[in-house]
Amino acid sequence: MGLKSDIEIAQEATPQDIRVIAAKLGLTEDDLDLYGKYKAKVDYNLLKKDTGKKTARLILTTAINPTPAGEGKTTTTIGVADGLAKLGKNVLVALREPSLGPVFGVKGGAAGGGYAQVVPMEDINLHFTGDFHAIGAANNLLAAMMDNHIKQGNELRIDPKKITWRRCVDMNDRQLRNIVDGLGGSGDGFCREDGFDITVASEVMAAFCLASNIVDLKERCGRIIVGYNFDGDPVTAAELQAQGAMAALLKDALKPNLVQTLEGTPAFIHGGPFANIAHGCNSVIATRMAMHFADYVVTEGGFGADLGAEKFLDIKCRMAKLKPDAVIIVATVRALKYNGGVAKADLNEENLVALKAGLPNLLKHVENITQVFKLPAVVAINEFPLDTPAELALVKEECQKLGVNVALSQVWAKGGEGGKELAKEVVRLIDESEGTFEYSYELDVPIKDKINAIATKIYGADGVDYTPEAEKQIINLTKLGFDKVPICMAKTQYSLTDDATKLGRPTGFRITVRAANISAGAGFIVALTGEIMKMPGLPKRPAAEKIDVDENGVISGLF
Ligand code: ADP
Ligand code: MG
Repeated sequence: MGLKSDIEIAQEATPQDIRVIAAKLGLTEDDLDLYGKYKAKVDYNLLKKDTGKKTARLILTTAINPTPAGEGKTTTTIGVADGLAKLGKNVLVALREPSLGPVFGVKGGAAGGGYAQVVPMEDINLHFTGDFHAIGAANNLLAAMMDNHIKQGNELRIDPKKITWRRCVDMNDRQLRNIVDGLGGSGDGFCREDGFDITVASEVMAAFCLASNIVDLKERCGRIIVGYNFDGDPVTAAELQAQGAMAALLKDALKPNLVQTLEGTPAFIHGGPFANIAHGCNSVIATRMAMHFADYVVTEGGFGADLGAEKFLDIKCRMAKLKPDAVIIVATVRALKYNGGVAKADLNEENLVALKAGLPNLLKHVENITQVFKLPAVVAINEFPLDTPAELALVKEECQKLGVNVALSQVWAKGGEGGKELAKEVVRLIDESEGTFEYSYELDVPIKDKINAIATKIYGADGVDYTPEAEKQIINLTKLGFDKVPICMAKTQYSLTDDATKLGRPTGFRITVRAANISAGAGFIVALTGEIMKMPGLPKRPAAEKIDVDENGVISGLF
């Protein structure tokens, strides 16, 4: 018998009524907006209600640099939470919502895997409670109001050649990447070059995920810059008076979505910004709500620790005043072998030499977490079916030799039972930790100093070079007073450098910053080290070709 697919495992499970799951958090039906039997939105006003408990311990799951071999951060996040539940802890998972783009493209869904999944995985992967559509609507309302403003006389003197705001849709649709719109007669708007981004790349998504409440969200929407006027000054959504209606569209979306793991552990799944041009983790509101109701909260940062964890810690934790208690760094034998130079096709074969050669990548991320951010860390070896005992033992031994905490995670094959070893280690780390936490840079230094700190401390670069374009933009941003915000690095996820082909732990390299743009609503500067695709395309054989639904409404082919 072959291994069961993720969707087959998920469909065999009998989920509990979401009201039963909510009751584990002390929530009653009154606190919920029910979306059928297994999904509910939870009112953020409950944050004001005293639960009589201390705020929860916050655990971040991150990973080594991603490889085509797959790492399993989401799977580990869910599995370790189920493991903590097995130890009798009151625990909540907080995750991002999947985007339709990757679901229909290459990557597939993002609801965990094997016996560590959140359910109903079909709904979670396929537009869920409609949050992303609401975010798309808010984004596109702003676009419509801006173009209308220009058409109606352009009082704000917006330069049509300097419009930066784009439209969005939650789909991998490269056809919309660059378009000409406003075609037709004089009543049909004005003709200009335009384009679509995927919704998860919209600045509204980033602002939504960093907002602490609806009023803050409205203010963030108002600060969004749509373009520049003929004098080169920024024009904001507030000047177009769009922020109120945008926030109105987002009122329900802003309530975190409650679902459950296969083992009935409560999970908030909410928001899903890109991890390159944005910060890559679930909403601040969901994390805060989770910490309000549980004793342990496990959450995930996108990509590897150089991007996802750095942004979680330097951007999200700083803005939301969160202090994490422990970090799980996921590594797999396969990804380590890949970092050690093995081709993707040969990863199924035991290779201790390559495995050892790939370890420095993992160790650099461990050092970053423990020495730069001063947080306790544990390596989770996410066991895959074809890993050999010798390979698993080698990773463990090498970590132990260097005094790095390490635990084997078998959550994909065994669910929470396979996550107990990791869960125990996490609890031990938290109990024994001294509670230190530092950012990798301070906010009140010049923009270049912040970028330099990330590049040298986190990536291990010797320094940073800037293109003339980036130089000009940094001078301008400083002049406009945007120099006191955190930096959101947009860099390849595959390497610690800005070159995707440099694996392992490279040394003797520099980073090149090609552009620096302000996301004033999100509240960070995006420093781009290469071309970042904000509207992906579908592959030759999209995953969508395999997805189907039968006469009973049962979906197949999702993974
Ligand atoms: P990430 O969050 O790091 O992108 P996911 O947890 O979403 O990774 O996992 C990516 C894919 O890898 C999923 O399809 C999942 O089922 C699969 N996967 C994760 N861990 C394992 C494992 N231990 N064995 C086999 N497949 C796994
Ligand atoms: Mg993930």
